[in-house]
Amino acid sequence: MDYDVRDLGLADEGRQRIAWADRTMPVLRGIRERFQAERPLAGVRIAACLHITTETANLLRTLKAGGAEVVACASNPLSTQDDVAASLVKHEGIPVFAVRAEDTETYYRHIDQVLDTDPTITMDDGCDLVSRLHAERPDQVKRILGGTEETTTGVIRLRAMEASGSLGYPVVAVNDAKTKHMFDNRYGTGQSALDGIIRATNVLLAGTTVVVAGYGFCGKGVASRARGMGAQVVVTEIDPVAALEAVMDGFRVEPMEEAAAEGDIFITVTGNRDVIRPEHVRRMKDGALLANAGHFDVEIDLEGLARLAPGERRRPVRPMVEEYLVDSESGTTARVMVVAEGRLVNLSAAEGHPASVMDMSFANQALSVEWLVREGQRLEPSVLGVPESIDAEVAALKLAAMGIRIDVLTPEQEAYLASWTVGTR
Ligand code: NAD
Ligand code: SAH
Repeated sequence: MDYDVRDLGLADEGRQRIAWADRTMPVLRGIRERFQAERPLAGVRIAACLHITTETANLLRTLKAGGAEVVACASNPLSTQDDVAASLVKHEGIPVFAVRAEDTETYYRHIDQVLDTDPTITMDDGCDLVSRLHAERPDQVKRILGGTEETTTGVIRLRAMEASGSLGYPVVAVNDAKTKHMFDNRYGTGQSALDGIIRATNVLLAGTTVVVAGYGFCGKGVASRARGMGAQVVVTEIDPVAALEAVMDGFRVEPMEEAAAEGDIFITVTGNRDVIRPEHVRRMKDGALLANAGHFDVEIDLEGLARLAPGERRRPVRPMVEEYLVDSESGTTARVMVVAEGRLVNLSAAEGHPASVMDMSFANQALSVEWLVREGQRLEPSVLGVPESIDAEVAALKLAAMGIRIDVLTPEQEAYLASWTVGTR
């Protein structure tokens, strides 16, 4: 078996951590048990480009239990948990091509090695695998039944491919399932982004001013959790509706050029590029911390920052923290710190979202693949939603696993909701 991981000697540690995550992934576990019995994915070859974490390991085990051949690479050069990669290879027999802190060339070589297995299903997180496949292997695209996409920006890129007529097969936007983005993006990112910043810096959030750029699902989560830890939160936005929502949720909303001078900690969650630029950094306080929990390493303009602090004015000060000495607009010098190289702070400096929330995201992934295998032949190349029945099933299973019961409609209530003749009385 061909693979590329840091050290197979880490495998036992990985297995223990994968089992720990599995304890709080009851929905996925239930699907795995059913897959084991029914083998709905027999004959399918899945190429997965995901963060190689304990939670992903449990998803890959589930797909394999369903009868699929599975191969995986990283969807981010800094998020790989090397012990997990080793355990997948050694204990699960799943080829993995991922080494934490791999350079860009290796990152794409690993994607190529996964594509070399001639998959019939792609499972992507951020659309790097799908975009490379379409750009460089058009013949192979024709043999693909379908794909799934995990995250917001990946779905945006897929929609751009669809709009330009370049998308070669149907892809399910797993991110758009309610049981994914309303929970993973909000509560997952809300907690794990702060977890990453705290692990990297040991900062006390209480009493700080936290600037959250972007008030989408991730931003709502980060802002609410930062407030819960005692920070004053300022939100920046470009969308009037999202900005209004932040205002009415009780946050101060300002343009970045104002917020730049006030913040102690900056967290970008926009999916956009250059949200923090040199002109902002030159207004920042001494000791400001910059972190990204959105997409790739583009939300903080790192090249612009490097121009502000060339040569020895930039240095590592802790693992995962680099200091930039910047000449401020006010004529003083400020130490501005970038956490985790501006890459996803929750996955680079911590362990990503907790297993309990990834349980729902990855249940959607597993059930969407099963649906694609069943329905794929009759689907057009397009970006598709997760079927509502899957979304509802994931929510019901999660509630059941949590021991929470809810009411059911009475026949009279059902009739009332379906009628238009009964008015006020
Ligand atoms: P979203 O579309 O719900 O929200 C993004 C928000 O950012 C929007 O309200 C948009 O108006 C705003 N925005 C865009 N450009 C901006 C700018 N220049 N300044 C200020 N605000 C701006 O998306 P989301 O689901 O919250 O995801 C945000 C990003 O986080 C995406 O890239 C997504 O892929 C990623 N994500 C990361 C994690 C993680 O684990 N770190 C989890 C889920 C999603
Ligand atoms: N690949 C790009 C895209 C952002 S990834 C990049 O790395 O920049 C954001 C996705 O990571 C989210 O949609 C979320 O579902 C996923 N994620 C968060 N925590 C995770 C974990 N513990 N294991 C696997 N995936 C995780």
